[in-house]
Amino acid sequence: MARLVMKFGGTSVADVARIHAVAERVAATVAQGQAVAVVVSAMARVTNELVALTRSVAPLHDAREYDAVAATGEQVSAALLAMALQSLGISARSWLGWQIPIRTSGAHGSARIQRIDTRELETRLARGEVPVVAGFQGLGPRGRITTLGRGGSDTTAVALAAVLGAERCDIYTDVDGVYTADPRIVPGARKLDKVTFEEMMELASSGAKVLQIRSVELAMNYRVRVQVLSSFGDAPGTLIVDEGEIVEKQVVSGIASSREEARITVLGVPEGVRAAARVFGPLADANINVDMIALTLGPDGRSASVTFTVPRNELALTLHTLEGARRAIGFEAMEHDASVAKISVIGVGMRSHAGVASRMFKALAQKGIAVAAVSTSEVKISALIPEAYLELAVRSLHTAYGLDAAAT
Ligand code: ASP
Ligand code: MG
Repeated sequence: MARLVMKFGGTSVADVARIHAVAERVAATVAQGQAVAVVVSAMARVTNELVALTRSVAPLHDAREYDAVAATGEQVSAALLAMALQSLGISARSWLGWQIPIRTSGAHGSARIQRIDTRELETRLARGEVPVVAGFQGLGPRGRITTLGRGGSDTTAVALAAVLGAERCDIYTDVDGVYTADPRIVPGARKLDKVTFEEMMELASSGAKVLQIRSVELAMNYRVRVQVLSSFGDAPGTLIVDEGEIVEKQVVSGIASSREEARITVLGVPEGVRAAARVFGPLADANINVDMIALTLGPDGRSASVTFTVPRNELALTLHTLEGARRAIGFEAMEHDASVAKISVIGVGMRSHAGVASRMFKALAQKGIAVAAVSTSEVKISALIPEAYLELAVRSLHTAYGLDAAAT
């Protein structure tokens, strides 16, 4: 019997009517002869409220207790969905992380799944029962409840699909798939039928918020086919699959954008050739994640200026760290800008096509958009631009790479 993992996000289980609708969908899939395991998120907004509660009681709370609070949202939605399924005559049972158990690391608040005991689930699936698993949570090494980081039920679902050998992991959400660009920015953006694991990985880490990054990483490593689709309709969504499954590869599949960056420029760093090492050493020690980098060597090579980006919410910490290391680094001045944005052009086809970067810079230059830093991977080119130009840049690039939907 083919196995399927069906995961429903917060908006899909937002209220009782939605939960019944989800139950109907699961029942219809079971009726087609599939063995189904379900994973749910907490009902919409519930996790935010729980997190706010922990903050209001103690801003610097203990991470173990944070997890104990945050994990409760999924307990409610899983049990309610199991009831709704039962009312349709489906044999269903809810499962919390510790009951399976889903073993995780002890990193409370962002734990990693390490092992899933499938024995009980296998027995129940074989009997035709539908397990409804609470996403986002697990059991840490010391017997305490852990959570996997915000958006973590995606990761629960993919992990479960991997260990159960499911044919696919369907992730039901409030968008009907992965688009060539954010449709709120580009009205002519198109839904992609298929996208590769690698492209999805870059999209997720470049600002597209459809899936938790870790879930894509897991899907890529364990070759789990994932489908992102809407629970508000019946249209097929976007399949995230191995490159081999995609016949016609696009040079560029999508444009992503992120406002979560801040730029810092450190001026007059001595010893030009060693400037980067001088600046990034103290940042690494402070666990600050540097993303894009640009280096400008002074004419005599004796000094350099170093431009880089960090997550916007780490800007203050970064400035503080640099100020503290000012003497050791020996820089003359530094400046920063929190109103920057990163735009990324993504596509596996760029591995074998030349001119992708030049087209990007030409399109940006034509609109008079200045690029302060660049970073690339095999399948991605990112540029740092002023935030005010984000929309214009995304639209221009969408057109420049021929991604606009054909007028009909
Ligand atoms: N309920 C959790 C959150 O809001 C996990 C999830 O939705 O995936 O982050
Ligand atoms: Mg989510």
